[in-house]
Amino acid sequence: MSRDVYVFAEQRDGELQKVGIELVGKARELADDLGQQVAAVLLGSGVKDKAQELIACGADKVVVVDDVMLKEYVTEPYTKALTAVINAKDPEIVLYGASSIGRDLAPRVSARIHTGLTADCTALEIDEETKLLMMTRPAFGGNIMATIVCEDFRPQMATVRPGVMKALESDASRSGEVEEFKVEFSAADMNVKVRETVKTAHKSVDITEAKILVSGGRGIGSADKFKMLEELADVMEGEVSSSRACVDSGWISADRQVGQTGKTVRPELYLACGISGAIQHAAGMENSEFIVAINRDEDAPIFDIADLGIVGDLNTIVPKLTEAVKALKA
Ligand code: FAD
Repeated sequence: MSRDVYVFAEQRDGELQKVGIELVGKARELADDLGQQVAAVLLGSGVKDKAQELIACGADKVVVVDDVMLKEYVTEPYTKALTAVINAKDPEIVLYGASSIGRDLAPRVSARIHTGLTADCTALEIDEETKLLMMTRPAFGGNIMATIVCEDFRPQMATVRPGVMKALESDASRSGEVEEFKVEFSAADMNVKVRETVKTAHKSVDITEAKILVSGGRGIGSADKFKMLEELADVMEGEVSSSRACVDSGWISADRQVGQTGKTVRPELYLACGISGAIQHAAGMENSEFIVAINRDEDAPIFDIADLGIVGDLNTIVPKLTEAVKALKA
């Protein structure tokens, strides 16, 4: 019986997804606390060569189920494969990215193997005394942080949103074991026929990848003010993001939203312009390396988490900053 920490290493079109790599990093920490190993589960078709990448990022072993049935994500075959791996390996913990795939897969697996699942965790740690996994997530509209434990059933399972955990530096010299795991599929397992995969023509921006984010809140006043933020983001080679207030007002698309119901980001620089700093917003950006806030209200809560606060009108400050950065680069 293993008591290892497992990670569902999501891949799309044969490319490992960042969230899986981040979770392998977190799993490394949890497994070290438990004195156990980290295993990544890689499901797909023709994906075995990706196993080494997972080992370089912290996995001790990779369990690969390589089958044409797993070429594209379809709920039933993926659920069957992962359930079979879990039943055979008996892990202590299984982590999933809270991506559209992870959110579909994890609850189904949890029902099949009869264990609990804590969704959208923002922190995971091992309790020193009980050795249980403490799974923390916002609850009651983000007004409290709830820490949940799964005492009676195994494995303990959690989903975590992309960007919440930090990936380890990849180390190509790390070695590990790769195990090919066979799952017997029948035609009946493919209960959905994928006729065509249509990729969205408009490639949405992944703000979780940006090193610099210039983020606008309701304080910018209108949709066209995002142009001013874009100019600053462009000269700083960053991206524009937003609070939910602007998304709800239709000023910017939802893929730019930072926060509890948006994305979790940890850029090197987060510049909050006209954002009050509500807890639901802070939940998505407070782990940024350096936070600069521009707000005309000196009591705005954003200043409590900012490394540098500028009290003033963003309409004056943002264009000045853009000019200053341009001048520095000239
Ligand atoms: P406001 O709170 O209205 O703040 C605007 C700020 O701009 C003020 O501080 C004001 O002083 C300042 N300002 C105004 N004019 C200027 C100016 N000219 N120059 C400088 N400063 C100026 N919010 C999120 O962002 N992300 C989420 O994921 C999210 N999820 C939520 C989930 C739930 C369940 C709930 C209940 C709420 C959620 N919210 C989320 C909403 C959140 O509670 C806040 O309402 C929202 O973050 C406020 O956005 P804001 O800071 O842009 O606007």
